[in-house]
Amino acid sequence: MECKLCGSTLLTVRPCKDAKTQEMMPIADCQRCSLVQQAEMPSTEALQIYYSHHYRTDYKSAYEPKPKYVYRAGRTALDRLQCLQKALDLPTGSRLLYVGAGGGEFVCMANKFGFHAIGIEPNQGYSTFARNAYDCEIRTGSLEDVRDERFDLISLFHVLEHMAEPTEVMRKLHSLLNPKGYLFLEVPNIWQKDASPHNIYFKAHLYYYSRASLTALTSPYFETVWMEDEGNLMAILRKRDTPLAAHQYPTAADLSHHAQRMARKGWSEYLFEGGGWKKPWQRLQRSQQEQAVAHLSAAQILERLAAPHLR
Ligand SMILES: [Zn+2]
Repeated sequence: MECKLCGSTLLTVRPCKDAKTQEMMPIADCQRCSLVQQAEMPSTEALQIYYSHHYRTDYKSAYEPKPKYVYRAGRTALDRLQCLQKALDLPTGSRLLYVGAGGGEFVCMANKFGFHAIGIEPNQGYSTFARNAYDCEIRTGSLEDVRDERFDLISLFHVLEHMAEPTEVMRKLHSLLNPKGYLFLEVPNIWQKDASPHNIYFKAHLYYYSRASLTALTSPYFETVWMEDEGNLMAILRKRDTPLAAHQYPTAADLSHHAQRMARKGWSEYLFEGGGWKKPWQRLQRSQQEQAVAHLSAAQILERLAAPHLR
């Protein structure tokens, strides 16, 4: 097989299991660009069946999230918008496209923060709910359906790892951005210490990125403005005026760091360095906060979360 990013045939394949089904799912590590990828890419049909069984995404059914899920998604949206505010000073009314908008919490919050936000979400139930609950623009569809439009910022959170042709996706995103437009990405981080060893490899996740491989993937079309990889991998990138002719692949030092990180992953690192031992306590605290909003509507929950942060 060839690496999907750099085309190298220097891949090491190791046995792994899908976290949801425990089925065998071999993983390939590229020795040249360090991208971790599924060795046997599942077909689109296999993925759709898997999604509908394991991600509760029946693409047609009605959807009504529980208040605790709105609260949880609203808190995450708030964190992301605050990251954005710290890193960039975008003018009010900047056009933002959010790919994989889910239940619409981020789009609703982004509008409160002054963006002109548009969401796109393939799930009919989720997108219909979001349009009705927040009176915002959420289209039912996917990135392929967006054409002949320009945005100042495009965000994808936990979407890129599901996409089979990430290089094509980068080209498309570059074409949808205004000059000096930005990309805001978040993906699971294969170097992170705070992911339970039970929950790393999923059939739906075709690629497992790190700071080094995400930089390599995005480098022809984008330059990095900000990147954070303590937990999940988050990045803000600026569109290049002229794409580079080649990818900027990891250096020898990056590759050796990658090898070290992969060798150290395991229960002991997760519990003691990744803070895994604190998680049951954190879950208890969160459940108390979530009970306090159980009587509110989705729009009221987001209003209450955003209010202290709006100027
Ligand atoms: Zn590679």
